[in-house]
Amino acid sequence: MLVSDILRSKGADVVTVDPSTTVGDLVQLLSRRKIGAVVVSSDAETLAGIVSERDVVSQLAAHGPAVLTRTVGEICTSDVVTAGSGDRLDELMSTMTEGRFRHLPVVVDGRLAGIISIGDVVKARMGELEEEQQALTSYITGQS
Ligand code: AMP
Repeated sequence: MLVSDILRSKGADVVTVDPSTTVGDLVQLLSRRKIGAVVVSSDAETLAGIVSERDVVSQLAAHGPAVLTRTVGEICTSDVVTAGSGDRLDELMSTMTEGRFRHLPVVVDGRLAGIISIGDVVKARMGELEEEQQALTSYITGQS
């Protein structure tokens, strides 16, 4: 399965925030949208970074509640690892495992084209395993 297959079923919507957004507003957004990370971008097309709930927690632990008035641009990860639409599911799993992060923005022709979370990866892999199991059962029982 490819990134393009996953995006076809989940859609290409990506929640983005401007780098000037405060961390307090980011927390509200993550909670309201029930997501764990957002792409940081000033035009919703080019990537300036990614910021996740993990960044907020580590900044809170280091600096306390004062961090809520800082900006997303100050706390985000600017060196973003991305995926392409032709990348395979097993490649995404390796990238997330090795990089120790749970989100991969998809970039096509230099533009943001979607985002894959670890939840999307698990769902896609479960679908693949179910298909494999059905194919094996059909093979063993001789039914198509
Ligand atoms: P996550 O597991 O996605 O909540 O993110 C854990 C840490 O990795 C946080 O510091 C994020 O800013 C960072 N991060 C998340 N996704 C990416 C990515 N695709 N490329 C680089 N860093 C990332």
